[in-house]
Amino acid sequence: MHTKKELSEKLLQAKIVPLKSLGQNFLVNKEICEKIINKAKSLKPDFIYEIGPGLGALTSGFLDEQSKLVLVELDKGLVEYWQKQNLNIIHADALKLNWSELLKQHSSDNTLLVSNLPYSIAASLVIELSELSPTFKFMVLMFQKEVALRILAKVRDEDYGFLTVVANTFWRIEKLIDAGPQDFYPVPHVGSRVLCFTKQDTSIDKSKFINFVKLSFSQRRKYLIKNLSQQFDLSMLEKTFSNLGINPKSRAQDIDLLVFERLFKNLSI
Ligand code: SAM
Repeated sequence: MHTKKELSEKLLQAKIVPLKSLGQNFLVNKEICEKIINKAKSLKPDFIYEIGPGLGALTSGFLDEQSKLVLVELDKGLVEYWQKQNLNIIHADALKLNWSELLKQHSSDNTLLVSNLPYSIAASLVIELSELSPTFKFMVLMFQKEVALRILAKVRDEDYGFLTVVANTFWRIEKLIDAGPQDFYPVPHVGSRVLCFTKQDTSIDKSKFINFVKLSFSQRRKYLIKNLSQQFDLSMLEKTFSNLGINPKSRAQDIDLLVFERLFKNLSI
């Protein structure tokens, strides 16, 4: 990890100007870096992927396990920086990468993803990796605080929605640590939070379930039954709601995770 001063010198040397469009806010808080690295290592993964190594705030903690480490970076200058150090780096957009092809290559499914995520891709990436099969066993990810709050929201909270239901159906999620704007260089406008994800085994058809949840939240103000009637027969919906004891005047944000799963299973015969 670098101090702010070391980091700005290194950026200058490598001729890298931090780009807002790539969410390039580099971590400069040693304690937070160590907490993320220690958590990731405590999970004893056989393979470690890092999205967006930047100048190595987190990467430096895994250099003793280089043979297990794969970096994914979109910035060409940073890719060249890591190539010079003989690290295994893929020059790609993490949202467009064929993750399942990559993960299928490994002899073990004990895989971990670690990242101080660029803000713009975080929520989409969680959805994409939730749908994936095989996917990571563990993820230790830094999010913009607002996104982390949406992920950890409780039923009926304003933040409870599509992202909450999908993430918590496929992962067990816990908070690791918060970071403030001053823990980054350049200083962002928002706070951040690190969350740890552990894959939950499920027999659910992932992509069908994700589409179902998306449809359920398609118009938050409308009753859930109305949203679902765009794709399901209304009388079948009324019967299923009644069988499961769901109030037909419920909105999607009133439905907890288990009821979502039960409703999905009952409707997808
Ligand atoms: N890990 C470093 C740290 O903590 O200081 C940098 C984190 S910075 C918030 C985000 C990193 O992700 C940058 O290195 C940026 O170039 C990279 N990045 C941005 N968009 C990306 C994308 N779509 N795919 C892969 N990497 C991306």
